[in-house]
Amino acid sequence: DQEKPFHVLVLMSDTGGGHRASAQALDAAFDSLYPSRSQITIVDFWTSVAGFPFHNFPRQYSYIAKRPWMWKLVFLWAAFPPTRWLTEAAFSLFCHSKVRRYFEAHDPDLIISVHPLVNTLSLSVLAAIRRAKRAPPPPFVTVVTDLGGAHPTWFDPRADMVYVPSEPLHQAALEAAVPEDRIRLFGLPIRPAFWQETRSPAQLRVELGMALNIPAVLLVGGGDGVGGLQAIALAIAARIAENCGSSAAQLIVVCGKNKSLLNRLQATSWPIPVILKGFVKNMSEWMSASDILCSKAGPGTIAEAWIRGLPIILTGYLPGQEEGNVRLVTESGSGEFHSQPDDIAECAAKWISDPELRAAIAERAKSLGRPRSCLEIASDIWDIAEQRQRERDAFRLRMLTSHSQHVPN
Ligand code: UDP
Repeated sequence: DQEKPFHVLVLMSDTGGGHRASAQALDAAFDSLYPSRSQITIVDFWTSVAGFPFHNFPRQYSYIAKRPWMWKLVFLWAAFPPTRWLTEAAFSLFCHSKVRRYFEAHDPDLIISVHPLVNTLSLSVLAAIRRAKRAPPPPFVTVVTDLGGAHPTWFDPRADMVYVPSEPLHQAALEAAVPEDRIRLFGLPIRPAFWQETRSPAQLRVELGMALNIPAVLLVGGGDGVGGLQAIALAIAARIAENCGSSAAQLIVVCGKNKSLLNRLQATSWPIPVILKGFVKNMSEWMSASDILCSKAGPGTIAEAWIRGLPIILTGYLPGQEEGNVRLVTESGSGEFHSQPDDIAECAAKWISDPELRAAIAERAKSLGRPRSCLEIASDIWDIAEQRQRERDAFRLRMLTSHSQHVPN
């Protein structure tokens, strides 16, 4: 039984790109640290486990994330205690038994949550299983994938461990009554390409079809390509052409899953060299080969840019959830925040024409990068899982012994 690989269940949901990216990063870290000793299942909790009537969360997120006022409303609804309680009661009413059936059928050795909305329900289900079976449940740990601010639903004091990526979130976990000894601060779990990159930016530029000798501005809007990218791309291209010249820099726009944006940009004529992409699987390479990042304040994208030492122009944020990220970037001197396309473009043109300023900001960004955080989190989780496995084995042995003592020969 000892040799059996750990079955690790990772609960995420495709609301944005960050949760799946973090789940895959943890999968890769376990594989790298403990090859063949873990078997990982990554599941979209809302579409594949909890189901109706919440199975459309990923699609609804994509709609709401494009409408900040609506986002703020939803964020506050789920944070305000009475409405939060109502929401959790609805989750429990519709989904408790489905989640319980799923946990019992899959019988994981370890459960990792990388999503704020799965913690309360999953922990209540595990408590119910524990009461029914009187056996220690698998450990449940939460890896927070927000950066400078986090929704209160991330923090449930019943979790065996809560991993946070920054000091403000360490504080938020304490305020949510998570015991100090069950909080660990490492950084965000970032995918392996960001801890393993070996090729030089020049080599990558050749492979990616970029111009070799001019600076590159990389414009992204999270996994869903949100945040008014079209107006920002047009403003940046026009301002660079006007202030610096039409061959002074190149622009790469990553539209993520926003296909209609990609189509619109492809139908545009551009005053500077431009590369347009849909969802890219090699973000690490695009970041390595670029000189400036323009992005909404997504936590994953910011942490990746820090690892790559990219100066950051933040162009917007989801109210509530991403405001804290803006503070982290601007107060650390690793970037600036501008919400208007003209101001964003002005900042990009200023950084293009001042390589020394760019280098100083890049250095501050690089100092904040934590490329090994994912490995540190995985190793810590593994220790917890091994410890709990020993407790569960001892419990099973006790049950077996007491059962055999009561069975007549
Ligand atoms: N991403 C990607 N390819 C794309 C667009 C985004 O791999 O075409 C990744 C990006 O590198 C980051 C994640 O998706 O890891 C976006 O996460 P973030 O937290 O920044 O924003 P979210 O989409 O979750 O709001």
